[in-house]
Amino acid sequence: MWRRKLLSLLSNDLLRRFRPASISGLPLRFYSKLHSSPLCIRDETSRPCGGARCDFLESLQFISSRSYSSHPVENSATRCWNCDYLARSSPFLVCETCRSVQPVDDSVDYFNIFGLEKNYEIDGNNLEGKYKDWQKKLHPDLVHTKSEREKDYAAEQSARVIDAYRTLGDMLARAIYVLKLEGVNIDEEETVSEPELLTEILEIREAVEEAADAQALKQIQSQMEDKLRHWSKSFADAIRCRKLGDAVISVRRMKYYARVKEEIFKRL
Ligand SMILES: [Zn+2]
Repeated sequence: MWRRKLLSLLSNDLLRRFRPASISGLPLRFYSKLHSSPLCIRDETSRPCGGARCDFLESLQFISSRSYSSHPVENSATRCWNCDYLARSSPFLVCETCRSVQPVDDSVDYFNIFGLEKNYEIDGNNLEGKYKDWQKKLHPDLVHTKSEREKDYAAEQSARVIDAYRTLGDMLARAIYVLKLEGVNIDEEETVSEPELLTEILEIREAVEEAADAQALKQIQSQMEDKLRHWSKSFADAIRCRKLGDAVISVRRMKYYARVKEEIFKRL
């Protein structure tokens, strides 16, 4: 019974979510361009695309002063609301001089919060350790004697740090966030139009329907995890080469596999 319900959920959701492949939200400043370079345009510190030539005929390149940099964006100077100390580096969450918690600065992105380069691939950067450091600095027990104003700042900063940790700690959420930083918003309502993906969806649907027991469902879940990792790597390659169209395709796939995984998890 629940399998039928699950299939119905998946089916309806798929039709609703995956409309024709449009890259909605792409800024008008995207353009296609011929390029003779053997390597993709990239930051000096980032890796090349495995030596492969980027196909700039099909790639979309974002022309913006806010380009995808591997270095934290220098934040504008900010003054401490309490001691007037002038901070010149980001993130300015806690004043270096008086230790007062500062109000949320939206120009500080999630990568800045953890002192990370703006790079989709963050493995080995000890995100959890950095998150725990912030938890200690913003812990309610440490600000309970402070003014209401600072307590509010600490609560807002804490919520933002938690959101940043959850976003960067999840391969799909991180991919969507990276695209957002590039000015590309993924359309939550888009539905599937790629024949290859549609065929695969039908096969997965059938496999879920025919799953005899929890073990079989767990196996499908494991397959979804493999697919998520595969498309996460594709996303990383695409974003490194600044092929934002390909990056969007990877995210679309990841969203589908993550959803199947989540639905099965709920039923197990
Ligand atoms: Zn201060």
